Amino acid sequence: MNTLLPTSTAGSLPKPSWLAQPETLWSPWKLQGDELVEGKQDALRLSLQEQQQAGIDIVGDGEQSRQHFVTTFIEHLSGVDFAQRETVRIRNRYDASVPTVVGDVSRQKPVFVEDAKFLRKQTTQPIKWALPGPMTMIDTLYDGHYKSREKLAWEFAKILNQEAKELEAAGVDIIQFDEPAFNVFFDEVNDWGIATLERALEGLKCETAVHICYGYGIKANTEWKKTLGSEWRQYEEIFPKLQKSNIDIISLECHNSRVPMELLELIRGKKVMVGAIDVATNTIETPKEVANTLRKALQFVDADKLCPCTNCGMAPLPRHVALGKLKALSAGADIVRRELLG
Ligand SMILES: [Zn+2]
Repeated sequence: MNTLLPTSTAGSLPKPSWLAQPETLWSPWKLQGDELVEGKQDALRLSLQEQQQAGIDIVGDGEQSRQHFVTTFIEHLSGVDFAQRETVRIRNRYDASVPTVVGDVSRQKPVFVEDAKFLRKQTTQPIKWALPGPMTMIDTLYDGHYKSREKLAWEFAKILNQEAKELEAAGVDIIQFDEPAFNVFFDEVNDWGIATLERALEGLKCETAVHICYGYGIKANTEWKKTLGSEWRQYEEIFPKLQKSNIDIISLECHNSRVPMELLELIRGKKVMVGAIDVATNTIETPKEVANTLRKALQFVDADKLCPCTNCGMAPLPRHVALGKLKALSAGADIVRRELLG
């Protein structure tokens, strides 16, 4: 797209309260059967309209049809038993009861392709679709079958590639892989994490992105952030290899985080979705604050490669807060756009 500083979101946005309990992760659906199918589509339309009214340039489905960014995708695969639960430590941070891999994993049918076609029909704007990345998927499961994180990641990468190719055919302009696990398991990221990600995007002609953040604004994450010290240098461990990878866009957490902005220099040449909206607070940024973050990023990212974005998904936020933040993102980007165009 030709817009300078095109705005976007990391992916998820709050759901209407008639569809699912607000401000809750893994919130159960309030509808069933055909009503649920229709309700998800109505919510998607609303979410799209809110993004458009806020002036967002690259729009998405707001992840209205999924309960969770990782588990909903896995639910559609065979080889994983959701009734057989084991407690594992998610990203070395908190315990969760997760499903078990009991056999070879495979994708019998498309997962999000119909939803993407539906979104494509609603708008001519560029659309971005998020999928979980292979490493983040394996980190949300107990593996009783392959007994190897790497082997399972390669299997998921193949499955993600099948889904991604069909999303591309459905008219998706940017396919994003969410890899918050990249911020935790540096050795694995460099050994095979980036390689499995590249397998997931093999053969795609559309743009591809990887979203690497410090998580939703939930308690387990904010507590973890407090232990990371005054400078968060996690990105430094993985950027050199990501810079050389085939991925087109890197989506990052910046605003209100302790990530030193100069680390962005390590991925110079890539497009960067700069997180200018904090998802861990209900305080709505002012356009000036957004503009400040973008100006700082412009020292290390070429203007034609910078996309203002949110730090992470906004699913757990109150709806009016998320909408206010989208508007601030747009208004802040507009300030800097006008400065750049003189
Ligand atoms: Zn995130």
